[in-house]
Amino acid sequence: MRSFTPSLRVLAVTLAGAALVFSPVGGQATAKAPAAEKADCFVPPAGSAAKGGRGADTRDMSVAEQKAIEARTAQLLKAKAARGVGVPQGALAAATVPVYINVMRDAAGNGDVTDTQISQQIAVLNKTFGGQESSAAANTGFTFTLAGTFRYNNTNWHHDKQSSTYRKQTRKGGKNALNIWLVDFSYLGIATFPWDYSRNPGIDGIRVQYTSLPGGSATNYNLGETATHEAGHWFGLYHTFQGGCTSTNDEVSDTPAQSSSTNGCPEGRDSCSLPGLDPIHNYMDYSYDSCYNQFTPGQSTRISNMWTAYRA
Ligand SMILES: [Zn+2]
Repeated sequence: MRSFTPSLRVLAVTLAGAALVFSPVGGQATAKAPAAEKADCFVPPAGSAAKGGRGADTRDMSVAEQKAIEARTAQLLKAKAARGVGVPQGALAAATVPVYINVMRDAAGNGDVTDTQISQQIAVLNKTFGGQESSAAANTGFTFTLAGTFRYNNTNWHHDKQSSTYRKQTRKGGKNALNIWLVDFSYLGIATFPWDYSRNPGIDGIRVQYTSLPGGSATNYNLGETATHEAGHWFGLYHTFQGGCTSTNDEVSDTPAQSSSTNGCPEGRDSCSLPGLDPIHNYMDYSYDSCYNQFTPGQSTRISNMWTAYRA
């Protein structure tokens, strides 16, 4: 999830997904209420609750659920390795991900994006997952190719109403396909996680504010890197501030802990006493698009493992 606000990105609450909230009032956290977001997403099995919210609550899920996901992933990887499935130990998975763009316009046709913006968005995904924005950035080995663009005119869908229904009706491809629904809502984006695919494949993918595409009108968030952030969740990454100032944090060892999400690009921010400055340039923080420049090697490894476990 990525929140969208002129001056403040707020951690919102989501269920089996992570989002970015868009607060219309500067400085005032107006994250959607958990209940609304829960209703918006699918109802998960017991134990799979989406958390988040404001202030000190920096989790997308409970500690227990996070632990269970790690254990389940490790088990799946072990079982697949025993069967010779997946890449050899020490190697990283890589794939070309087919991307389906679903443009949800309103009944009058508002909310459209151009084919040029879409091709630029695909280029941004390739640049960011390819580690091309910083010498410190990891090349994840994943590339993206446009598999199709589909445009709909439906005012409810445009405003992300009936999202479970419209996603099930319009989703394309298999578990390896990234569906992007371009909508106009109070978030920059919301994603589903890979470990939820098997129990609800019809909604798998990411919902992205259409004005965040390259050339869009979302000031500070219009370089197309919301889609990178949401795709990061889709691959199984948490926010870098997940868990706040804890050593477990986001389950990635080379992303220093941070107490909360970042707004803007505050160079040198250091919000935890644990080692390392806050990873404000990481795509899984909430910084401005222009501030983002990397996934880390640890995140690349996590993406590879999650892919092998759930999407390969
Ligand atoms: Zn997020």
